[in-house]
Amino acid sequence: MTLSVVKQTKERKIEPHLHFSYSQLSTYLICPMKYAHQYVWATPWETKPVALPFGKAIHKAVEMFYKKLKAEEEIISVDELIATFEAVFTTEIDKTDIEITFKNGEDLKSIRQQGIELIKIFHSQARPQKIVAVEFPFSVKAPDIINGGGDLPVRLEGVFDLVESDSEGNYAVVELKTSGQRFSSLRLEHDLQATVYSYAMAKMKVATSENSCLVRYDVLLKTKKPEFVQYFVSRTELDHQRLVHLINHVLKAIENRIFYRQTGWQCGDCQFKKACFSS
Ligand code: SF4
Repeated sequence: MTLSVVKQTKERKIEPHLHFSYSQLSTYLICPMKYAHQYVWATPWETKPVALPFGKAIHKAVEMFYKKLKAEEEIISVDELIATFEAVFTTEIDKTDIEITFKNGEDLKSIRQQGIELIKIFHSQARPQKIVAVEFPFSVKAPDIINGGGDLPVRLEGVFDLVESDSEGNYAVVELKTSGQRFSSLRLEHDLQATVYSYAMAKMKVATSENSCLVRYDVLLKTKKPEFVQYFVSRTELDHQRLVHLINHVLKAIENRIFYRQTGWQCGDCQFKKACFSS
């Protein structure tokens, strides 16, 4: 498939319909009760982890970097990038009227400084290949394997941070992450987000090969000495089939209102803790 196909797909409007995202899938798998509070009952948030405004500010700055590079073939200055991070972070914090939660030893000042250091390292090391699209929305169908025949009434949707191509026109989807630790090989082997992205690209017929797409994680490591690390993963047709199986069964469980508590590390900064444990 050619670049023009990607352009056409990008320009297509996504019509309103039932949809399911990687975030929803992942939230259900982490804790079905949390999924219900978030997406079914619309329970008001009690707290907000600082990782959310932080992640949004980093992503906005990186998006600006890619967009400038794509439109003008110019690398934005590091000062502009830091200014974008700081402006978005401040706005997101200021508009939050619930308690912001931090991990041990963190506070607003240290988080802000950490963000600046990560932006600097991103700016000095990120050098994408040919940028095809930035913040590229996708919406694809998935087969209904439980009832048989046809597709699910719910579409799989999301947004790729970046789609790149190499000199031979092979596409890769790039997802930017911040993380406190390196990704293990086990995580890379099973990470669902890469499978969702590979599946979506294959369904849009703009995959790296016929049935699979290369996915790259660009990871900003929030270690003492910040680092920028890239991990490449690919998925097979079998991985796609397992994803379809998982989506079908999770949607079935949601339809049957199976919302149990899955207690563990995920309760630490859960924004519905009081509501969850008081009922
Ligand atoms: S507090 Fe724990 S069990 Fe309750 S909804 Fe949140 S993550 Fe789930």
